[in-house]
Amino acid sequence: MSTTSATTETPLDAIESIFKDLRQTFNSGKTKPLTWRRQQLERLYEMCDKEKDAFGAAANTDFHRPNSETLIFDCGSIRNECTHALNHLDEWASDEKISDALAYATLDKYVHPEPLGIALIIGAWNYPFLVTLTPLIGAIAAGNCAILKPSELAPHSAAIMATMVARYLDPSCFRVVLGGVDQTQALLKGDIDKVFYTGSTAVGKIVMKAAADKMIPVTLECGGKSPVFVADDANLEICGRRLAWGKTINCGQTCLAPDYVLCSKATESRLIPYVTKAWQEFYTTNPANSDSYCHIVNSRHFDRVKRLINQDKVVHGGQTDSNQNFIAPTIMSDVTADDNVMQEEIFGPLLPFITVRDEQEAIRFINSRDKPLALYVFSSNKDLAKRVINATSAGSTCVNDVIFQIAPPSLPFGGVGASGLGAYHGKYSFDAFSHRRTVVYAPNWTEVLLVQRNPPYTAKKTAF
Ligand code: NAD
Repeated sequence: MSTTSATTETPLDAIESIFKDLRQTFNSGKTKPLTWRRQQLERLYEMCDKEKDAFGAAANTDFHRPNSETLIFDCGSIRNECTHALNHLDEWASDEKISDALAYATLDKYVHPEPLGIALIIGAWNYPFLVTLTPLIGAIAAGNCAILKPSELAPHSAAIMATMVARYLDPSCFRVVLGGVDQTQALLKGDIDKVFYTGSTAVGKIVMKAAADKMIPVTLECGGKSPVFVADDANLEICGRRLAWGKTINCGQTCLAPDYVLCSKATESRLIPYVTKAWQEFYTTNPANSDSYCHIVNSRHFDRVKRLINQDKVVHGGQTDSNQNFIAPTIMSDVTADDNVMQEEIFGPLLPFITVRDEQEAIRFINSRDKPLALYVFSSNKDLAKRVINATSAGSTCVNDVIFQIAPPSLPFGGVGASGLGAYHGKYSFDAFSHRRTVVYAPNWTEVLLVQRNPPYTAKKTAF
């Protein structure tokens, strides 16, 4: 089979027939048996195992992404999710028997999860396989057909996904559409029953409006500025290493990356050397030459991130090279809410420090902005962490680490407010692609009890 070229786009006039094919398949009931769903999940697992090096090479071509980052964060995580879904599919897909108050005890009743139909999964480029294929696990497990629309900004990753999905999964149920805004707009107008979108908040709003026109459910996995509050009592050596890791894997192009740090001036001056020491260990003193250091996805984003650097405030890094979209791990100090770097999600390897006196000032700062996808707290005091959690709102929180809350498939992953709507992973993915249908069997013998509800409404009948 030939490999799809990185520049291939799905012609717009081909989209209608994709919908026709998938609708025909869905209506045939092919996707409903659990044996079929299990087999497709096993094939997806196999694809992310056997083809992981091809996936790694594609993402490396797209943005100098280290192969290990694709192998661990994309292929490994997707396989974990597949295993979890395979282990729990019977339980998730079974009808939930409901026991109820005496008044309804005569009714046989349950909640039946049914597939929504044709799901459209729109992916972002930054973890190109993870954010496209993980939702697909939920769509398959719940018994749907699906169209994947990977991001055009990682064209080699998108193309290899199209090739491999066609090779490994049932093509009458799962298709990949390649292209950009035009293809996405055409898909949003098509015969879909659910949209699962990962990407920026701005495009998330466009997707939600399109879904509103059709009155179909959406899941929006967006981004935002995820703050870190470091209390004075935190273990700063551990905190420094973990921030250094979370800020620069994928070159900071991670939706859950720690965006900026709030801490006291004294803590900042002790913490920064630990961050920079870890970066030297990870990438040497010359990260531009490191194969373990990813680059910025394209020149547009390179220019955008570069504009966020205020060289007067740089205390580490600050070097850039437009020839290879390289931006060094960079720390800025004495940053204020008015600085450019605080006006948008950074999505790059810049770590700004903002001074706050204490936890209360940090809480006020966080609450004055959009609800973030993640909020991180570093402290040795669990009560302090809990106070910050209870006084704020965020998609998720990890105390004393960053990003790691995404790993367990048993936990919901999603945003709140501007950072997203709905959640997925594990059972939450299954639910995201299911309708919970109430089913009640009413026995005939109860007719004698139901005379009460029938007209005429005599005084005796309405005397409650
Ligand atoms: P993006 O919004 O530019 O693109 C995402 C998808 O939307 C792409 O497939 C693209 O083709 C499509 N798209 C773009 N413009 C469109 C339009 N006008 N109409 C219809 N479709 C359109 O996002 P991106 O730059 O690829 O991703 C970066 C953002 O995604 C960041 O904000 C990041 O935090 C977020 N993100 C979130 C998660 C999460 O799980 N919450 C994961 C990864 C990335």
